[in-house]
Amino acid sequence: MSSQGATLPPHVLIFPLPIQGHVNSMLNLAELLCLSSLDITFMVSDFSHTRLLKHTTIASRFERYAGFSFQSISDGLPYDHPRAGDQIMDMLPSTKNITGPLFKQMMLEKNLFASESRRPITCIIADGVLSFAGDFAEEKGIPLIYFRTISACSFWAYLRIPELIEAGEISVKGIGMDQIVQSVPGMEGFLRARDLPSFCRVNNINEPILHTVYSVAEQTTRAQAVIFNTFEDLEGPIVSHIRKHIPRLFTIGPNHSHLKSRLAEKTAENSILSGSFWAEDRSCLDWLNAQPPKSVIYVSFGSITVVSREQLLEFWHGLVNSGHRFLWVMRPDSIVGEGGKSQIPKELEEGTSARGYMVGWAPQEEVLNHEAVGGFLTHSGWNSTLESIVAGVPMICWPYFADQTTNSRFVSEVWKIGLDMKDTCDREIIEKVVREIMKERKEEFLERGQNMAKLARKAVSEGGSSYCNLDALIDYIKTMII
Ligand code: UDP
Repeated sequence: MSSQGATLPPHVLIFPLPIQGHVNSMLNLAELLCLSSLDITFMVSDFSHTRLLKHTTIASRFERYAGFSFQSISDGLPYDHPRAGDQIMDMLPSTKNITGPLFKQMMLEKNLFASESRRPITCIIADGVLSFAGDFAEEKGIPLIYFRTISACSFWAYLRIPELIEAGEISVKGIGMDQIVQSVPGMEGFLRARDLPSFCRVNNINEPILHTVYSVAEQTTRAQAVIFNTFEDLEGPIVSHIRKHIPRLFTIGPNHSHLKSRLAEKTAENSILSGSFWAEDRSCLDWLNAQPPKSVIYVSFGSITVVSREQLLEFWHGLVNSGHRFLWVMRPDSIVGEGGKSQIPKELEEGTSARGYMVGWAPQEEVLNHEAVGGFLTHSGWNSTLESIVAGVPMICWPYFADQTTNSRFVSEVWKIGLDMKDTCDREIIEKVVREIMKERKEEFLERGQNMAKLARKAVSEGGSSYCNLDALIDYIKTMII
């Protein structure tokens, strides 16, 4: 490096698992680091890069940061792979077996993305599920930071899988699902076997998935530091348990809100960073504009969840029968099995056209912050949960898989900002919980939700825990080039 090079900032490679939720939170991280003038190479899959370029203004958004660039790489799956439902799990082996070797080759051929104006990569911030990125960092002696896009509570449960097995607390073949588990410190007393991450539901204790998810969590501990998209007032007690295994742990979330707060400080920019893989249908905002305050329940199950036609009908009946207004995101690829998604069942036509609105994909953060929205029927994905928390919107949780089964328990039993209807999908229950959130217990949930929203905003404001932790993280990254 030339003498001029010695003054160049650190160059961070950010590498998310290329699925919507992970990309969203790591793009927010990327922009947060750009605001502190770090150089960033953001690694994204060819598939998601094409989607981002097609459906967002991401390219022009990042143009203002001279040190930012995208690199794209195969995710190892055929282009027409569904990348949804159970099949999303194909991405773990495909990234390991195909993306991993390509990544290594690319890093070496491109001289760690060094140029006249940028140092070679000085630090890798990889998604915690990408163990190959950690292997590469270790092999080349590059400092490694893992970023966990899931909640601290679910991560902690993953890390305790050996103790859960030892204590016989993993539910096998659905037996003992309502048993309270004692092997996850900090969760004794309220966590049932059914609330453990869904991969802990097995037919036999030797099922490979159980051991895979544990080893993915465990390998995270080898990094020099780990970042969590959470905040101390939300998950501090659980984070303190994890810190015994990962001493240098930075809680800097909620990332989307943190980004907004830092942008407001440094620029005139206050638009939301959209990393959508689908076209956002903004007509739902016009529809919301015509609805009374806090009258609409927003229904969205994120980017991966799929539902059967039977489940779809239960939700549809429950929503219409509740008598409340609803805005429902139905991704084009989210219905599995027979039957068309767009066909409104005859008996529901009237209730749907009178009180409902449907879109294929929504600008979710804007929707949640719209004054007409009073509740969120969610699959409890971690980004959706944080976005709802920041907006102060009470939740009805219908977790689909992975960390979502644990997140939903925390929403209902720990933070008490919503209801958990996991493992049921019945029109009468749906009608009942919608009424509870939107009417009968509305004030109680709104009050707690708004208190939590205040704590979230405090965390990302100057002097708040996430704000200080981000500064500490950036200082730490800067020490890597001294
Ligand atoms: N999302 C969106 N529009 C939609 C549905 C979802 O922008 O109509 C975004 C949402 O704001 C969140 C992400 O997609 O940032 C979903 O991530 P999450 O972790 O909640 O769930 P996943 O899709 O990973 O299951």
